[in-house]
Amino acid sequence: MPELRKDYFTRKLVLVSEERSNRPLEYEPPIRNHSVDRDHCPFCPGNEEMTPPADLVLVSKENTLLKLADSDSERVHDWSVRYFPNSFPAVSPDSEPKYSDYPLQGEPAFGYHHVMVVSPDHYAKFSTLPQEQWVDVLATLQDRVRWLYSKKTVGYVSVFVNNGYEAGASLSHPHLQTLTLTKLPPMIEEEAESVHDSMSELGVCPMCKVVNLESSGPRLILSTDNFVAFAPWASAHAYEFWIFPKRHETSFLKVSQKEIQDMATMLRSTLGGLDSVLKSPSYNIAFHVSSEKKTTKQIHWHIEVYPQVIKWAGLEQGSGVYINPVTPEIAARQLGAAARKEISTLIGIV
Ligand SMILES: [Zn+2]
Ligand SMILES: [Zn+2]
Ligand SMILES: [Zn+2]
Repeated sequence: MPELRKDYFTRKLVLVSEERSNRPLEYEPPIRNHSVDRDHCPFCPGNEEMTPPADLVLVSKENTLLKLADSDSERVHDWSVRYFPNSFPAVSPDSEPKYSDYPLQGEPAFGYHHVMVVSPDHYAKFSTLPQEQWVDVLATLQDRVRWLYSKKTVGYVSVFVNNGYEAGASLSHPHLQTLTLTKLPPMIEEEAESVHDSMSELGVCPMCKVVNLESSGPRLILSTDNFVAFAPWASAHAYEFWIFPKRHETSFLKVSQKEIQDMATMLRSTLGGLDSVLKSPSYNIAFHVSSEKKTTKQIHWHIEVYPQVIKWAGLEQGSGVYINPVTPEIAARQLGAAARKEISTLIGIV
């Protein structure tokens, strides 16, 4: 029977309804057209001139990692990670300082929008990226997020991945993005409210409570030394999963080098599991973190992964109520088995 589930922290509601998975489908999925090849991909080595100069380029030379940067006239080659301004930014440091009041409220979209190409290989995948490459990507991300927070107009750094056509990616070459906002985005604000209320009323972090609860039981996917992955109780997406540090931590920037290794193992194993269960679906990844500007309320940082296998339709788009035809318990069982297989080949645990 369908069940209406409420999110742990926000007002989001999900109708978990296995019956919906039996609907007859008249439409054929569209054929995906990969028209950009390596010669024309702006993220591929050799095409660096097609993007703005990079703020940070990671180059590995004789077992040491060099942090370099492009100049206006010269691009760095033979890189393993490359971070540069988005050619089509949604925010800008040079926005016009124009403000307007209710009901036509508006303000300048001050900010920085960047792309991080996570591998020189056009055909690389997050799920098969070598462990060391994942570590370099995460460490570079920490470096760049820290740098962004040093800027005056930055109130929040949003980190996200669009992977695949259905997830809104315009290019298939694997990359992640950072986009800064002057204040907390609504989703983080709502989570922070919930954490704040529970902390002041009960003295406990509700996210620690959920981490404890989901570290065993039917929604657990994978547990490592420092991280746990589970399918959230009210998953709005089929096969959605969240990754939390087990220990209460508000900032991704405080994750140690050793924990980064573990985080790389966790991400690679769970995304590998997802790719094997759903045959490489499109998905989005979102980092949910506290702002480093300490004036705002804090959350227990985490990562949310949203596979894009079911289209949000009228109810979802028009009401904030989501139908999910795959119960999080079934998703966790399948993803868990596949992720454990991945991790055992990675680090040799059976
Ligand atoms: Zn490419
Ligand atoms: Zn916590
Ligand atoms: Zn969250």
